[in-house]
Amino acid sequence: MENNKFSRRSFINTLSIVGAGMAMHLPSIARGSSDNAKPALLGGPQARPWEFSGWPIFDQTEEKAVTDVLKSGVWGRLGGNVVANFEREYAKVFGAKHSLGVSSGTSALYTILGALDLGPGDEVIIPVYTFVATYNVVVLNYALPIFADTDIESFQIDPTKVAAAITPQTKIIMPVHIGGSPANIDQLLSIAQKANIPLVEDACQAHLAEWKGRKVGNYGLAGAFSFQASKNLNCAEGGAIITNDDAFAQTCYGFHNQGQGGQTTAYTPGAGTRATNVRLTEFQGNLLLAQMTRLQAQTKRRAENAAYLTSLLNGIKGIYPAKLYEGTTMSAFHLYMFRYDKAFFSGLPRATFLKALQAEGVPCDSGYGPMNRDTYVTGLAQNKHYLKIYGEKTMKEWQERNACPQNDKLTGEQAVWFFQNMLLGTRTDMEQIATAIRKIQKNAKALSKA
Ligand SMILES: *Cc1c(COP(=O)(O)O)cnc(C)c1O
Repeated sequence: MENNKFSRRSFINTLSIVGAGMAMHLPSIARGSSDNAKPALLGGPQARPWEFSGWPIFDQTEEKAVTDVLKSGVWGRLGGNVVANFEREYAKVFGAKHSLGVSSGTSALYTILGALDLGPGDEVIIPVYTFVATYNVVVLNYALPIFADTDIESFQIDPTKVAAAITPQTKIIMPVHIGGSPANIDQLLSIAQKANIPLVEDACQAHLAEWKGRKVGNYGLAGAFSFQASKNLNCAEGGAIITNDDAFAQTCYGFHNQGQGGQTTAYTPGAGTRATNVRLTEFQGNLLLAQMTRLQAQTKRRAENAAYLTSLLNGIKGIYPAKLYEGTTMSAFHLYMFRYDKAFFSGLPRATFLKALQAEGVPCDSGYGPMNRDTYVTGLAQNKHYLKIYGEKTMKEWQERNACPQNDKLTGEQAVWFFQNMLLGTRTDMEQIATAIRKIQKNAKALSKA
């Protein structure tokens, strides 16, 4: 049982964890409505009348973890041993030889790219369907981010588009395991190996996800993880790198610590000669050790509920849960992603579908927009440094190379997300989600006039 004294949120966590048991004692009205009820958006009862599990989930274990560090008086990793202990545990649980704690997922990626000595003139292939951090770390190095289009069945980077995007300037291929589900690792690895280009895994959403029985983040030269507050492992802000390459681990350590404590024999010529400070603190290290005692059970619970939800949603025409590639032996389900086809909902636009679903008590979102079309990204073609480094012609071509028609389709009208915390409850929760969608489908005509 969770301790209830911290906050209402922790009480809600408790409620959801025991979900089904509690539901039996609630009046039947609170159990949620059936398929045949009127949609909540039109004044009917909600399919999901209580909140999903809150996030984060914590108790005295986390309280002690933080106060122990406070009382020790050693708050930073230099001179302490807590972050080092966390790194040992993280490497063990993730099946990697080395792990390095850093200040964020963004700084994990930035450290990997820095240790590879990425710089002006280099190209990095990234998915277009990702959080903007994947793009930002490339641009921070004045390298060119090249977007590969999306396989809309899986929401993951399309390996054939990666192969087509390789040029003599390509320095790194950086797929993302979006939503916590593995990208097509076999195909991406074979493309990278054939081209002799390192693969870097943005696994920021994919804690404990597995490809053919091995944790993601272990397949490329290195993998990056985020512990930002919304992620499946959380210490407010933090990140980690895993790698099985001894020399590269050393170069990363040096990069993250002002060039100190890493090795001087660089991994590639010139690497290890730039650095910053993105150290993780002892507070975060100990909080992560506490949260890690919950990670495996939570991951298993999400995967079980997601599989059940998929079996329910597969029975609804016009709803297509994101496909998992055949090599996937575990998804972290940071997001539960599916496609919505309004043709099976009397033409009900996705925006109204989302509004109706939210009204039923089911949080949802349309997710990422088309990043390649965002003015924040297209504006790079006018950035004075980029114009100086690459020239006007290359920057104009860059915009044309970045067209991603499949992703336009996915982001423009189809994609829908549920969030990881919604998968921490019971099978009843999944049934209520499916009920909500069926209600909307049955009443789609009336809803489109709402
Ligand atoms: C969250 C995230 C990041 C960045 O992690 P932060 O800890 O927020 O800096 C990078 N890539 C992806 C895919 C993410 O989801």
